[in-house]
Amino acid sequence: MKTIIRDCRALLPDGEGLRLEAADIVIEDGAITAVAAANAAAAGPGDKIIAGAERLAAPGMVNAHSHSLSIFQKGTSDRFGHVSLLWMNQADVFGRPDDELYAGAVLGALEMIASGVTSVIDHFPEQNCRTEMVAPVAHAYADVGLRAVVGMRIWDRTYDDLDLSQLEGIDDDILAAVGENDPFKPRPLDEIAAMCEETIAKWHGHGGLVSIFPAPSNPTRCTDELLVKAHDIAEKHDLGVHTHLQESRIQVDVSMKYNAKPIVAHMEDLGVLSRRWSLAHTVWVNDDEIALLAERQAVPVHNPESNAKLRVGTSPLPKMLAAGVPVALGADGSSTNDNQNLFDAMSMAVLIPRILGTDEAGWPGAPEAFAMATRNGAKAMLMDGRLGAIAPGQRADIVLYDLASPSLAPLNDPLQQLVFCERGESVRTVLIEGNVVYEDGTFAFGDAAEVARQANEMRQKQLGRNETLYRLAGQLAAAQGKAMT
Ligand SMILES: [Zn+2]
Repeated sequence: MKTIIRDCRALLPDGEGLRLEAADIVIEDGAITAVAAANAAAAGPGDKIIAGAERLAAPGMVNAHSHSLSIFQKGTSDRFGHVSLLWMNQADVFGRPDDELYAGAVLGALEMIASGVTSVIDHFPEQNCRTEMVAPVAHAYADVGLRAVVGMRIWDRTYDDLDLSQLEGIDDDILAAVGENDPFKPRPLDEIAAMCEETIAKWHGHGGLVSIFPAPSNPTRCTDELLVKAHDIAEKHDLGVHTHLQESRIQVDVSMKYNAKPIVAHMEDLGVLSRRWSLAHTVWVNDDEIALLAERQAVPVHNPESNAKLRVGTSPLPKMLAAGVPVALGADGSSTNDNQNLFDAMSMAVLIPRILGTDEAGWPGAPEAFAMATRNGAKAMLMDGRLGAIAPGQRADIVLYDLASPSLAPLNDPLQQLVFCERGESVRTVLIEGNVVYEDGTFAFGDAAEVARQANEMRQKQLGRNETLYRLAGQLAAAQGKAMT
């Protein structure tokens, strides 16, 4: 049985860019099997026909860096800086039961799908990963029908970039209590490697949608042995490796302390830098590191809203693009953004370099921003050539936009209007792996309002937990005068 999207206006690959063409899109077994002229694809009995007239068909977008655990924290962190925010995150997420892990992933997945996102890399969880914690999120993504990488957050070194001993204004009893129950406590390498293998064996491929990647929290929080082990595991199972990289300035100092060189150069020395890595943020990298990223085709994930809100610095995005680095796009967690909407991220990726006024040669426009959100996102998922375009052989992750909506009418230039006008209000139908997961405001998963009701109840429970960590986060924010530390 086939699905045919009949007589739509499709954005089809055209060299490095896209062209708009009236077309029929034929889908079988989760893949696009043909793109035919409009009204030319033959339908057999039982085939599903989706009317495409008045619809723009575009590849679904990849949110290449997010955190499902912080979906509950939207609207909680204005004027926080990186250190106080990460400690607030610990207070917010420590001790979450399975039903809250599940609900957070569902809520984020619904938000993403309704705004044209069909894949996510979920850097999970906030604390050290255990195999049993993956079950609720893997179920959530399979139940909603969102394509997802669950990145197992691992580290075996201390978080030197969040060192509390260097900060003033924190009560001693809090420091002692946090020290005894340190959420950032490292684990031994063997234990981490065994956990990765067990999780991959159990959950990789779940529902045909879920992948498992090893996901170092940050290379500066990992020993060389763990970085090599993570890369070896990825090679063995043909997986990607996801991580945060050089988000804040202090992380450069940490790399210099341990490695006497910047972290990208150090990863190259270790022999691990490759296309398998997706690197959230990649703000503090120098020109030599950018050249290495281009040579190895590693995939930085630009999170312009998070970087701006936390004031960690500005990504050298134009330089990376000019050098041929395949940069993807992410929303980051909802404690730092606070939405999972890639239309915002695309427009900010385009506009911030123009505000800064530097490196004009690499300024992205709408086509480059859309490529970051689709084709380069597929590279971050390690699905290059199989995801991110409407073409035979690609997975059928397609978004149908209403051409009669105010954002898209009149249709002058679909890419400029997707980047600068659209925010998700024109999304009418979303297919992932060929399945219709969203249509005219209704999710195949079920009642979104019920999920929201549960989220409100769960949020109240969360605020009643982890009193010591909340006190610490509050004192950190106060001690820094909310000075964005
Ligand atoms: Zn992040």
